[in-house]
Amino acid sequence: MIYLNKNYAELKDSYLFAGIAKKTQAYLDSHPGQKLYRMGIGDVSQPLCPAVIDALHAAVEAQAHAESFHGYQPECGAPFFREAVAALYAARGVRLSPEEVFVSSGASDELGDILDLFSPETPAMVLEPAYPAYLDASVIAGRKIIHVPASAENGFLSSPPKTMEAALIYLCSPNNPTGAVFGRDQLQAWVDHANKTGSVILFDAAYEAYIEDPTLPHSIFELDGANTCAIEICSLSKTAGFTGTRLGYTIIPKSLTRQGLSLNSMWVRNRTTKTNGVSYILQRGGAAVFTPEGQRQIQTQIALYKRNAVTLTAALDTCGVWYTGGKNAPYIWLKCPGGMDSWSFFSYLLNEIQVVGTPGEGFGRCGEGFFRFSTFASPEDTVIAAQRLIGLFA
Ligand code: PLP
Repeated sequence: MIYLNKNYAELKDSYLFAGIAKKTQAYLDSHPGQKLYRMGIGDVSQPLCPAVIDALHAAVEAQAHAESFHGYQPECGAPFFREAVAALYAARGVRLSPEEVFVSSGASDELGDILDLFSPETPAMVLEPAYPAYLDASVIAGRKIIHVPASAENGFLSSPPKTMEAALIYLCSPNNPTGAVFGRDQLQAWVDHANKTGSVILFDAAYEAYIEDPTLPHSIFELDGANTCAIEICSLSKTAGFTGTRLGYTIIPKSLTRQGLSLNSMWVRNRTTKTNGVSYILQRGGAAVFTPEGQRQIQTQIALYKRNAVTLTAALDTCGVWYTGGKNAPYIWLKCPGGMDSWSFFSYLLNEIQVVGTPGEGFGRCGEGFFRFSTFASPEDTVIAAQRLIGLFA
């Protein structure tokens, strides 16, 4: 007898982005040849930077010759990759040993896989509006979910609740979808809460590269006590255009223990059982991101996306639409005008000006009435989308 995981039946019908794809496809089917301006799904528009491409080419060439060929890589990451990440953290004043860095195939894979460390009885605390994968992965595991809704009143940055219950706490900063970024004191409050309650924070830092305010933390490990309560999940997807290439890294401090067990050692055991490492070629490409040349080149790309943010927020200013985000984050979170609900606003923009955004309701109930624009489209499309918004509302 096969017993299936019945928790799948508890998942909401359609994953947010699948719902958007379905509706936009239906629009295209009835309006063949119509161009859409996609300010919705968070994929990037710019190619990998030259430093990464050169490293990838060189690694492919190495694989062509017996004397430079690389077979299996160490499951937890090639030493050169782990050392490159540790050096990045050192430059930010965070001391890590390379053994505390694990390579991954991207943050999504890791956010799902890492749950192997925790038994399903551990509740998950999800700060909403939230990236949908946190909730869905927790539902699939059958966890009790503690919803912590945020609002415009607290700047979409919730404080820890009074509860002393230990939980797996999902924090995302800069936040997808709201673009809110935790300040040091706000994040310290979460670290203190986690240490006091025995919780573990899963800190999603997928957008840390967009932080330009020097007072804001890029890593949770910049804060006192985080190395006894946090795991940090990072991605090169939005940092360096690896959405289709797939590479990320995860930090699990050796000092993170629960019930006498080291989560770092458990994760080593997990990776050596469930993976055979990440491709040598990709890790060489990823390591190039951390070279001075790579860092310069990705900053040029990030600056392009930030100009898109200025284009869109200037349009919203002209239209008198309330929004937040878009400064230290690639997302703009706006209030649907005229009290529209978020899916109605989605359809309105699609039908009237062919601009596609993301309905806030898909990020949790408290996201209803809000809408997300991403800044990852091409500058050309972003300018047209901004002009069309002004034409519609100003
Ligand atoms: N975490 C957040 C908050 C995201 O928005 C995304 C992707 O959009 C991911 C993780 C997944 O990133 P990756 O491409 O590395 O799987």
